[in-house]
Amino acid sequence: MNLDAAGAARRMMARLDEFAAFTDVPGQLNRLYLSPSYRAACEQFARWAEAAGMSARIDAVGNVRARYEGNAKFAPALMIGSHIDTVRDAGRFDGNLGALAALAVVEQLHVNGIRLDHAIEVVAFGDEEGVRFSTAMTGSRALAGVLSASAMESRDRDGITLGAALTAFGGDVERAYTSRARDVAAFVELHIEQGPVLEAKGLALGVVGAINGATRMLVTVTGLAGHAGCVPMDLRRDAVAAAAEMILAVEARGLKEPDLVATVGRLEVEPGAVNVIPGLARFSLDVRSPRDEWRRRAVSDIHAACTAIAARRHVDSVFLPVHEAPAYVCDAGVVAGFDRALESLGLPAFHLPSGAGHDTMVMGGLAPSGMLFVRCKGGISHNPAESITPEDGEIALRALTRFALDFRV
Ligand SMILES: [Zn+2]
Repeated sequence: MNLDAAGAARRMMARLDEFAAFTDVPGQLNRLYLSPSYRAACEQFARWAEAAGMSARIDAVGNVRARYEGNAKFAPALMIGSHIDTVRDAGRFDGNLGALAALAVVEQLHVNGIRLDHAIEVVAFGDEEGVRFSTAMTGSRALAGVLSASAMESRDRDGITLGAALTAFGGDVERAYTSRARDVAAFVELHIEQGPVLEAKGLALGVVGAINGATRMLVTVTGLAGHAGCVPMDLRRDAVAAAAEMILAVEARGLKEPDLVATVGRLEVEPGAVNVIPGLARFSLDVRSPRDEWRRRAVSDIHAACTAIAARRHVDSVFLPVHEAPAYVCDAGVVAGFDRALESLGLPAFHLPSGAGHDTMVMGGLAPSGMLFVRCKGGISHNPAESITPEDGEIALRALTRFALDFRV
């Protein structure tokens, strides 16, 4: 089989640049789920899929799904994809690389008139990042049939519910709950590592063994607002001072255990004036670990520590769980398939865990699933400086293509 992987990889890298122009904020890549630029990106992705010989549609939750039939119609599919929503001021490779690489796999088959025994379904997910609403992975959750009943009620900063945004987008809230994918033989995702391990090892690619589980919560601390000049220090119920102590407790717990990470990434203060003692503080909590029991224990310890701090400072603290994903051990068959693909390219089959959550961990509930990581410069991600080399892009595409060709249902 004579595929032009180098040409396909060049087109893929050029498309990544072109795709980065789909943004809601000129001058930076900002493509939040269901936004106007997200819509435009979905439509462009569908056009590219159709040009690669696939039938494509935007589904009820705003994923793009495209299908390249196998030799037999209605054959079970190998599903390949990643997400095309981004964080604010994002890099252009996170998610988009895996989605466009999936297209590039099919494109190589299409231009050579090759059909496989299995179909290939390319998917570009929405809401992997969970930036706009206090949900995450809405797209893959819908496909896996595990979308939570409350997901549509979650609101963005402007108070718009996910359900309302989805309806305005042209999606379908009712069908979102019944759009579980059928006849998926396996799901695989290519993604940048978003960490420094592969670069440190001098390796272009790594096979993901497991994806860390994660808990996200919103913590609201309520004290009493007052005049910054008139209320003595010992009579205050300062919500931000309490939150600050809680955040240090989060950091201390994260430091206590290897492979556990705990982060407060967002802090809001009300009323937020220089001469007012803050009456309310709200912060996010994100805890991750490759072992679910470690993560649960850490969350419970953090909750206890914050409750004690709140009691001592006479403020109230409320923990609202907003996202929970168990760790996912990648499917052994998929891992072995990636091992063979790497070895066939003369690369070592190096394994590493994923510290970030990915659609793969949700799709693992639907079908055997796994991931391939590609080295990114400096391990930098969620940052416009995110980058991979064209050489690594090509070797990653070769490995993903090899996996797809050798895949057996
Ligand atoms: Zn991603």
